[in-house]
Amino acid sequence: MISLNQNGDLSAVLLDSIEAGIVVLDKNFKVEGWNKFMENHSSIVPKSIIGTSLFEHFPEIDEKWLRLKSNPIFNLKSPVFIIWEQRQYLFKFGSNRPITCEASFMYQNVTMFPLVSETGSVDQFCMLVYDVTDQALSKIGMDRLNDELKTASRIDGLTGLFNRRYWQERFEYSYKLAKRQDKASTAMMLDIDHFKKVNDTYGHQAGDKVIQMLSALIKRCVRETDLAGRYGGEEFAVILTDSSVEKAAIVAERIRRLAERLVVEHEGQEIMFTVSLGLAQLDANSKSSMAWLEKADQALYEAKETGRNKYCINPLTEA
Ligand code: GH3
Ligand code: MG
Ligand code: MG
Repeated sequence: MISLNQNGDLSAVLLDSIEAGIVVLDKNFKVEGWNKFMENHSSIVPKSIIGTSLFEHFPEIDEKWLRLKSNPIFNLKSPVFIIWEQRQYLFKFGSNRPITCEASFMYQNVTMFPLVSETGSVDQFCMLVYDVTDQALSKIGMDRLNDELKTASRIDGLTGLFNRRYWQERFEYSYKLAKRQDKASTAMMLDIDHFKKVNDTYGHQAGDKVIQMLSALIKRCVRETDLAGRYGGEEFAVILTDSSVEKAAIVAERIRRLAERLVVEHEGQEIMFTVSLGLAQLDANSKSSMAWLEKADQALYEAKETGRNKYCINPLTEA
């Protein structure tokens, strides 16, 4: 129920009962109106703020920025909006949300609009401050969930490397970029040797652990700008960007040697294994990304055929 105040002033009562902050300001940001919402959240009563500069009371407000931002109100007589996505708040009010909640401060949308006098001049403007904490938090939560889903759809669960689908997508992009920039880039395919035997001897879980440890090893050996993915069960593909095949061969040899020395412990057993690798530098005449990868795969096949635990370079790309 709305009851009139002592003066029987309905509009003042309405301004005080509304669930939004209302501030009336003059051109110089001197406060001329301050409703209950503002009083409740700032603990500043109208008596102490009316007639003083807004900036005196709220050091969190960037004066220069707000003055600039409010120019259109006076110049164009148009409203100005400040949304929480740009700035969480204009007034640093507590959020009144449970302590477990992520928001310690209120999220605000603020509308500022001119109060045009009868003569058509703008000597005052009004600020409406909306508490949009709930909407903001649900949007932030939703965005985070979407990010997590996006990441989950790109990353292989066992190894933390890019999964094949996403790797392929990125590979296509890397290929086009490397071709356009005419930069040396090298594709590397890697496959664990006699992996069936690892599974047969130690069990599938042990095999998984080998895949995990090898993935971590690969990650350590390549640069962050390189594109590493789990291409198949125990097969990996890496694009070494800005690397000639000679440079890539050094990386391949390091991976081979470290893999050979890696001892994977599983349920008290020590598992050792080796890997074979195939390399192919991007060829200016290359017809497609897949043709490039195919060359690396041929080199891998050659490594397997000629003894395993080694790397081979596709002869077609050799200088
Ligand atoms: P090669 O030296 O010729 O590569 O011999 P290989 O035994 O490794 O042969 P191949 O690469 O064809 O075999 C792959 C095996 O890897 C078959 C499959 O059972 C196993 N494998 C594939 N994915 C996984 C996985 O995620 N976990 C485990 N533990 N094993 C897998
Ligand atoms: Mg294998
Ligand atoms: Mg294989």
